Amino acid sequence: MEHKAQKLCPHRKKCGGCQLQNLSYEEQLHHKMAKVIKLLGTFHRVSEIIGMEHPYHYRNKVQAAFGTTRGGKIISGIFQSSSHRIVAVDECLLEDKKADEIIVSIRKLLPSFKLTAYNEDTHRGFLRHVLVKRGFKSGEVMVVLVGGTNVFPRKKDFVKALLKLHPEITTIVFNINTKKTSLVLGERQEVLYGSGKIMEELLGCRFRISPKSFYQINPIQTEVLYSKALEFADLKGSDKLLDAYCGIGTIGLIAASKVKSVVGVELNKDAVRDARENMKLNSIKNAEFHCADAGEFMLEKKAAGENFDVVIMDPPRAGASKQFLSCLVKASPERVVYVSCNPETQKRDLFYLTKAGYKVKKIQPVDMFPHTAHCEVVVSLTQNFASG
Ligand code: SAH
Repeated sequence: MEHKAQKLCPHRKKCGGCQLQNLSYEEQLHHKMAKVIKLLGTFHRVSEIIGMEHPYHYRNKVQAAFGTTRGGKIISGIFQSSSHRIVAVDECLLEDKKADEIIVSIRKLLPSFKLTAYNEDTHRGFLRHVLVKRGFKSGEVMVVLVGGTNVFPRKKDFVKALLKLHPEITTIVFNINTKKTSLVLGERQEVLYGSGKIMEELLGCRFRISPKSFYQINPIQTEVLYSKALEFADLKGSDKLLDAYCGIGTIGLIAASKVKSVVGVELNKDAVRDARENMKLNSIKNAEFHCADAGEFMLEKKAAGENFDVVIMDPPRAGASKQFLSCLVKASPERVVYVSCNPETQKRDLFYLTKAGYKVKKIQPVDMFPHTAHCEVVVSLTQNFASG
């Protein structure tokens, strides 16, 4: 893989979001590889990390915070990682270029509509955040304006003006967040233009994404990651697959055509609703999705005597719960694929699984977040006796 000379971001010192920017991309990959070997190398040989060919502007979900300088100028950008101050950023090397352009246009439109930026200290003012999601394959663009108040004067004209500048926008949502919180989105929202959702495609399946749905932020590497996970799962037509920590059902739905049945479990109820909707959208009949804690769910399934042949698990940074792991071991599926965004907790969980009789067969790191310290790792395990 060849990479052009390293681009350096003028905001890197203030922002702090790209922890590895002082390294060339090759060096970053070496660094991540070394980290994974150090953490997981005792389980098995680690395959070469899969990096990106063009490791810039890969984020298709972009969030900008809005604020005002002491001089009264509206700024938009990124919260400094070490504080809660907004660093004014118009162009980020990780973010989708079109999304950044839209955010700048919105900021420039505000004064002519006498709209202000929200002030976190006084809890006054209007615009708190703008969230842009872009469908990589569909090209659809969603803009979410997050207001600190539900009063949005001349909103129709604002929408018209924004669409004139950016006809590529396919939907605009007004989200209201009046709470003192660091969460970006509030409960209530109103669709101002379009359907309130965008369509995206991954490995031949279509997904409808709403403002709040969890969705992987790097579409190119997500396909790489999922392909590895499915390859490691070695799926057969007779398999009952559990997609644990399934989000909006992406992995399970992509796998559905290759197996007998798919069961997905996920804690977030909005994500489960999206997963069910995505199932219909793709005319998939052999899948079902449950809203539950993955560990509790495993326990219930165990009590009911229900088993799975293969489990693909993709837990959050904290890793899997003890309950989940102990039930997994008792249910003893033949194959387990562990997708992790945090190799440190993955190491802990792999210790548990290998002690209980599983054997690590492959370890594949994938660079989903170039220039940041994060690294995704797919591990395949089989039962000791099944591995021959
Ligand atoms: N596999 C999905 C989502 C992975 S992110 C994808 O690739 O898009 C991890 C998911 O685990 C999140 O959707 C989060 O809501 C969910 N989660 C967190 N804790 C959970 C728990 N205890 N039980 C079930 N799901 C959980």
